[in-house]
Amino acid sequence: MSMPDHRAVPAGLYELMQMSLSSLRDTLTSRSHSRDFAYARGDYLRNRVVIVGIVFLLLLPFWTLIDLFMLPEQSIRPALIARLVMLAALVLIVLLAYRSKARLQLARLSAGLLLATPALFYALVLFTLANGSLVGYAFIPYMLVAMLAIFPFTLTESFLLGLALIILQSYALYVAGVLFTAEGLQAIWLLAALLTIAITANYFQLGLMLRLYREATHDPLTGLLNRGALTRAIEQFLVREPDAPHALLMMDLDHFKRINDNHGHAFGDDVLRNFAGILRRSLRPADLAARYGGEEFVAVLVNTDKEAAMAVAEQIRAHTEETLLQNYEGEPVNYTVSIGVASFQPGEHFHSVAVRADNRLYEAKKISRNCVVGV
Ligand code: GH3
Ligand code: MG
Ligand code: MG
Repeated sequence: MSMPDHRAVPAGLYELMQMSLSSLRDTLTSRSHSRDFAYARGDYLRNRVVIVGIVFLLLLPFWTLIDLFMLPEQSIRPALIARLVMLAALVLIVLLAYRSKARLQLARLSAGLLLATPALFYALVLFTLANGSLVGYAFIPYMLVAMLAIFPFTLTESFLLGLALIILQSYALYVAGVLFTAEGLQAIWLLAALLTIAITANYFQLGLMLRLYREATHDPLTGLLNRGALTRAIEQFLVREPDAPHALLMMDLDHFKRINDNHGHAFGDDVLRNFAGILRRSLRPADLAARYGGEEFVAVLVNTDKEAAMAVAEQIRAHTEETLLQNYEGEPVNYTVSIGVASFQPGEHFHSVAVRADNRLYEAKKISRNCVVGV
């Protein structure tokens, strides 16, 4: 009997499996995320921490009312004090999240603290209340595990946080002397099931977010950033490093209309993809490259002075000129690019540097095309 291959699987199912696998790689850790997406995820995290934090702040006073009914008299005072400490901690976390704009690590920290604070409160109650009387608090670990689904965490982040909560709850059950009874095992099973649901929600949430983000920020033909995404990325850059010597390359393919007219629009598309490849190979990972318009491209070289930027531009121009493509008739075709180079002055905005680079590109077109103009 022959081995089944993927052709034996209905096409739709095979694609679904492929998509799920690549989605799994994207959601398992943040390693494959672009710096750009990392900022966007940081901002989603931040917004959610602020909103959930405020909801908690509003709910906290009501919980205090429940304390008054549920707790034995001698526990009310410590519980109230703990509640006030938690209130202050929540205010600080909301403020921390609020100030973590465009800083993923800080947003992540605030999300972690938002989950850790009730968990610590729970642990504190465990250690201070005698004989594990957890009346009214046993729901905390379940609530926290369910909350993991609200945030765009990676699967690893959720798994580690969830595991910590399961360990905490196991300890609580151990203190109460019921860990190895049906009741204890059922409680752990429920937490594990909730964690599985939360992680599944993370998988779909983060996967969808990544897909939509990629579509909204990248040019589908070349895979480079689109104009809007480039502008946003540069503004973020300039906020963090306003005085570093960044350089901007404005590039336009020469006589591209002629390429389309002579060899067809589909071949024109191949040329655009080919040039995007040259750009990618010429830049460093930290640099930015975008398709700015039809056959116009922009690159931002970070921490690069004018001389180095001119050298990179010249290298891109030369690689382009040397490239030989084959049209659909099998004939060799080459193409060229003109480039304008400008440097960011301290505190200067993207728009004004782009105008300067564009003027130089225009000069390059006037001089001879297939050349680089800077000053
Ligand atoms: P110049 O050397 O002065 O830049 O001349 P040019 O012909 O390159 O410039 P022009 O602006 O006259 O023409 C640009 C052409 O690019 C016109 C348009 O049809 C083509 N174009 C724009 N977007 C695409 C695309 O996505 N695919 C293809 N194949 N062509 C495109
Ligand atoms: Mg052109
Ligand atoms: Mg043009």
